[in-house]
Amino acid sequence: MAEGMKVEPDLNFIRYMKTAGGDTLKKCYQCATCSVVCPLSSDSKPFPRKEMIWAQWGLKDKLVADPDVMLCHQCGDCTTYCPRGAKPGDVLGAIRAYAYTHFGFPQGLAKLASSGKNLPILILIPAVIIGVLWLVSGGTHMPDSETFKEVGLTNFFGHWDYHFLTKNVFIIDIIFLPAVAFALFAAYRGVSAMWKQMAANANVSSVFRPSVKQFVLEFLWPSVVEIINHKRFNECGTNKNRVNGHLPLLLSFIGLFIVTNYAFIVKDIIGLAYPSLHGPISQMNPIKILANVSAIAMIVGIGILWGNRSSMEDEQGVSPTFYDWFLIGEIMAVGVTGLVAELTRLMGLQVLSYLFYYLHLVSVFMLFFYMPYTKFAHMVYRTFAMAFEKYRESNFVKRAVE
Ligand code: SF4
Ligand code: SF4
Repeated sequence: MAEGMKVEPDLNFIRYMKTAGGDTLKKCYQCATCSVVCPLSSDSKPFPRKEMIWAQWGLKDKLVADPDVMLCHQCGDCTTYCPRGAKPGDVLGAIRAYAYTHFGFPQGLAKLASSGKNLPILILIPAVIIGVLWLVSGGTHMPDSETFKEVGLTNFFGHWDYHFLTKNVFIIDIIFLPAVAFALFAAYRGVSAMWKQMAANANVSSVFRPSVKQFVLEFLWPSVVEIINHKRFNECGTNKNRVNGHLPLLLSFIGLFIVTNYAFIVKDIIGLAYPSLHGPISQMNPIKILANVSAIAMIVGIGILWGNRSSMEDEQGVSPTFYDWFLIGEIMAVGVTGLVAELTRLMGLQVLSYLFYYLHLVSVFMLFFYMPYTKFAHMVYRTFAMAFEKYRESNFVKRAVE
């Protein structure tokens, strides 16, 4: 600590750390073993030893906007080798969970999504929205089995003889487009707040500001490529097999992103002029194959991460947290309900298929809508923290201090 630096502990933050998986931090005696084993740490920026002392002092404002905290990918190497059982990996996870609530917008929703005791409300919100729309849209009129074979779940929200959008696509758009737009806006607000605080903490001057194009090409895109390549994950020691789960999961998200956009363009836009595009997609269509392969990759990837997380808790004493299990549960629910809805549809079991499709919509809504406040947000915050590190080392900042 710099001589004369004023320490302003945040007592609420210290209290939070004691109850949120970071309760072992007081055991830390600053031996620096964690900084030696951490694959992200360097001699010039030892990490996470300094974060452990900041956390003991309750320096919330420094920690929530510390790029190193966001760059940590929770490999657990530091926790494994810590001679005091201070669990630095858990401490950093708890700080990140706190940061997503701290920067979260709107605050009420961010706080709601931060605690396991609110899980029934978090499920109830989309369950009611989708259930009510299903009832009022006329979806209760289930097709007979012959029609079901032909139309599948494309009449889930009912049907109208209307040549533009089908009723199903129309209502799905009404539910999901605002939910995704809201989540993106909330994530933007959260990341902007983090960026401002990172810049203030690092005394970064904005005399020379990059244009949007420069920011994307020089800082943001290289960070995205690094994440997709899983470069830092591969440097992991103790939990090397995490990459085996993370990679199929990431690829499944990319696959489903392509499928969703294809469906949006074909059914919602081109379908306005060609209503024949509104029906179910054939199983042999490449996009359908991509959807099915992605769904299986999602279940396999999250299954590996589930097993990995359980063994980290059993064998390394890593603390179980709502923050970790909420995302694992959400993704598993999306994959399993989607696949069961599809299989029961192919078997002609329409009641079960309808039920699982409903559960699928609820879980997809939860995944998107709560994204800015859950561990999913790590993807966004981490990308921008990496971009900030690159920006801080760039001439835009260095020239300003010369
Ligand atoms: S967290 Fe553990 S390994 Fe790291 S400095 Fe503290 S006691 Fe040492
Ligand atoms: S969990 Fe892994 S990446 Fe994070 S601080 Fe510990 S060793 Fe480093």
